[in-house]
Amino acid sequence: MMDELRELYQEVILDHGKNPRNFRDVEDATSHAHGSNPLCGDQLVVYLKLDDAGIIEDVSFVGKGCAISVASASMMTELVRGKTVDEAKNMFDHVHHMCTGEGEANTTELGPEAERLGVLSGVREFPVRVKCATLAWHTLKAAMDGKDEASSEA
Ligand code: ZN
Repeated sequence: MMDELRELYQEVILDHGKNPRNFRDVEDATSHAHGSNPLCGDQLVVYLKLDDAGIIEDVSFVGKGCAISVASASMMTELVRGKTVDEAKNMFDHVHHMCTGEGEANTTELGPEAERLGVLSGVREFPVRVKCATLAWHTLKAAMDGKDEASSEA
């Protein structure tokens, strides 16, 4: 990774890790899911509030974990708010692809936000961190699918 990118990566992760956005529960959430990453000890609950049109009206998380899992969850809540479930699932595919090199996502639909998510791709250098970075996204997907528990697959 280029030094510049590495610096940005660290800055963004540190900022979100220290000052997580939307770190709260949603009282009138339409669904929520629990996700854990036993390898690292990360534990998250993601709350989701969908409106009648299937648009994510509110999304938040609580829990504890390492800086990467918290930063990833924090960024996720900012990025998927106002999106449809389909758009959020496409973002999930993109994050999964960036962190693991598997699968494909339609990045043209993501626009500039795909770039912001790019900071997460730094975890590819640290395979044990992949689950940290993807945990919140797996948990969000579980909540969108109406499941209580995120699968532990990275
Ligand atoms: Zn972690």
